[in-house]
Amino acid sequence: MNKNIIYSLLLLFLAGLISTDLVAQRDRESINRNAFRQMYQEFSTPNVYRSANGAPGHKYYQQKADYKMKVRIDDENQRLYGEETITYFNNAPDVLDYLWLQLDQNVRSRTSDRPKISSGKISGEKTTFAEVKRLHNNFDGGFKIESVTDEAGNPINYTINKTMMRIDLDQALNPGGSYSFNVKWWYNINDRSKIGGRSGLEYFPEEDNYLYTIAQFFPRMCVYNDVEGWQNKQFLGRGEFTLTFGDYEVEITVPADHLVSATGLLQNPDEVLSKEQRDRLKQAERSTEDPVFIVNEKEARKNEKQKAKGEKTWKYKAANVRDFGFASSRKFIWDAMAVKLGDRTVMAMSMYPKEGNPLWERYSTRVVAHTLKVYSKYTFDYPYPVAWSIHTDRIGMEYPMICFNGGRPEADGTYSKRTKYGMIGVIIHEVGHNFFPMIVNSDERQWTWMDEGLNTFLQYLTEQEWERGYPSRRGPAYKIVDYMKGDKSNITPIMTNSESIYQFGNNAYGKPATALNILRETILGRELFDYAFKKYAQRWMFKHPTPEDLFRTMEDASGVDLDWFWRGWFFSTDHVDLAIKDMNWFKVDTRDPEVEKAAQKKQDEAKAEHIGDIRNKTEIQETYAERVPEMLDFYNKYDPYEISVLDEKQFRDSTKNLDEEELALLNKDDNYYEVTFENQGGLVMPIILKFDYTDGSAERIYIPAEIWRFDHHEVTKVFLTQKEIASITLDPNLETADVDRSDNHWPPKVTPTRFQIYKKDKQKENLMQRDQRSKKM
Ligand SMILES: [Zn+2]
Repeated sequence: MNKNIIYSLLLLFLAGLISTDLVAQRDRESINRNAFRQMYQEFSTPNVYRSANGAPGHKYYQQKADYKMKVRIDDENQRLYGEETITYFNNAPDVLDYLWLQLDQNVRSRTSDRPKISSGKISGEKTTFAEVKRLHNNFDGGFKIESVTDEAGNPINYTINKTMMRIDLDQALNPGGSYSFNVKWWYNINDRSKIGGRSGLEYFPEEDNYLYTIAQFFPRMCVYNDVEGWQNKQFLGRGEFTLTFGDYEVEITVPADHLVSATGLLQNPDEVLSKEQRDRLKQAERSTEDPVFIVNEKEARKNEKQKAKGEKTWKYKAANVRDFGFASSRKFIWDAMAVKLGDRTVMAMSMYPKEGNPLWERYSTRVVAHTLKVYSKYTFDYPYPVAWSIHTDRIGMEYPMICFNGGRPEADGTYSKRTKYGMIGVIIHEVGHNFFPMIVNSDERQWTWMDEGLNTFLQYLTEQEWERGYPSRRGPAYKIVDYMKGDKSNITPIMTNSESIYQFGNNAYGKPATALNILRETILGRELFDYAFKKYAQRWMFKHPTPEDLFRTMEDASGVDLDWFWRGWFFSTDHVDLAIKDMNWFKVDTRDPEVEKAAQKKQDEAKAEHIGDIRNKTEIQETYAERVPEMLDFYNKYDPYEISVLDEKQFRDSTKNLDEEELALLNKDDNYYEVTFENQGGLVMPIILKFDYTDGSAERIYIPAEIWRFDHHEVTKVFLTQKEIASITLDPNLETADVDRSDNHWPPKVTPTRFQIYKKDKQKENLMQRDQRSKKM
């Protein structure tokens, strides 16, 4: 062998090595980036506490904290005084040297971190009064802890770390053990209209009355579990609460003419309600269609003027709740109705001042009842005996069995559609929070979306069942498009800690609710989704689920691998933007010269004509060949479309080895459409198509997202149809939140955009020019 040849072969061999290596590397990269790779890196490893199927593991445990409390509202000074005995049960397999409590009111203490870490600008030499007032705020709202003592009343060591308090145990608390201790405290109640807050007071100056909506009012046990140890991440204002279940006995002392609504059941109606009120309440327990007034507006108006002296103590009791809230005022109207859930009767009730009417007496209690029914249908029967809706001027905030809701008409009693639907929406939402996170008790401090997103999803279903065409703000896929296509530097994945989320409402409410709705309508279908979602709710009812418990249950119970969906919608900031990039139409070559030559002729005749040929037809008087006719003799007899003996032989030869089925395939007049789709947004989704045929009929085609599994940028697919396609639409029913629909049509479709033409304002223009000139100088 020649040396040169050897050298060349060696080079070829090396080149081959290098290129296969490059291909392998590219493959590895694409596998690493593959949209369908499993979530092993992102999900925590299943264990004895949390199973791989998404259910609680066989050694799942959770702690318990029981509270016995006495609180008093000082209406003169707007203070709350309280003392509690907490009994903490250690069901964990771990020995605990210390316990952690949450001191949420300390977020309003003078040394709180919240104002320190708030950022802002005075941009454009303008800011709001609210912003300046916030900077001037000097309200002293933190807890004043008076004592922390053991069961015998001896002081115990504790350390306050901002919004958290550590109780140092003399003797470690063993697995299976319990520990009781007492805390005594007071704090100044915040005026919500001045400094905001989830709870607080509203002052009505014209009659000098207060309406209290009270929560986070007592030192509360932190959660200790298998995921976080102690969840003692500081309360900074955004990330809400992570709380342990327990039983509550609470005595609430308030001015004698106040009405008090609270978490749980009233234990001493004989002491705090009149005979007439108790009778009306009995009547309400039998009324399933309409609310019954326990205190009507006329009575409330009289009560708020009289201002009786003295105090009364309302005793409430609640079992298996994660928190406790209450409301108190002499301004309250009270109505109630019964809701039948299985063989149980639950009371839907509202308290509101006259300022809430006529909106509140019309809707509040009815909406509570409706919400309990619809949410129960999708999850589990509402397990508590009562659900309250309490009026506030504008907030919406949830606690077990009680929530504080906005929606106030104008002073003259009129209200806009926006106010009405805003109020109904907020009541559905806050009552709905009873299910997520009050019962399906997720970690709000860590994951806002786990309660807000799931709840907003069910809120949408409940709104749509309240009224056909209800103007829901969130839920349908197309409503999230503006957010999804926004500036990515201002968007975080759904899986972001509650404190670090950009665009809170869209991120933690809108996007997860929409993702679940897409999962239900488009990916799984209603039947599979509803079964799996209900399974999640029932598995984690009265327990502490994590995101993986939801993700895993949805997959395990539906039989659908959804890792790509969680990755795209929950772990990334990608958006959906699919496009029809290219479309080709094919027909089968029958090989039959009779058919093919005729088709060729038809096609040739339909070809466009060149401009020169068109002009030459009229402009050239006589061609050379016409002048010398011998030149035409042979060719003018030739017909390229004529079938020759050779053509027929070729046809026979080429089909002689084909069987009947293959011959039939050649002779079917099918259409083959080769369509190329592009994924411009990054997020993979099913390809949903509408084919409109030339005969006027239409067809929906659903291609699962897995079509993108090899290449999530571009895929080409061949569609076989008997009919001819006139047009194709991608995502015709707005199912995928596709952010740019201008490339979703074949042939391309344009719709006009209206633009304005206006006369120049000469005077304004002169002024602007002068302004620009002066700026230059
Ligand atoms: Zn909410």
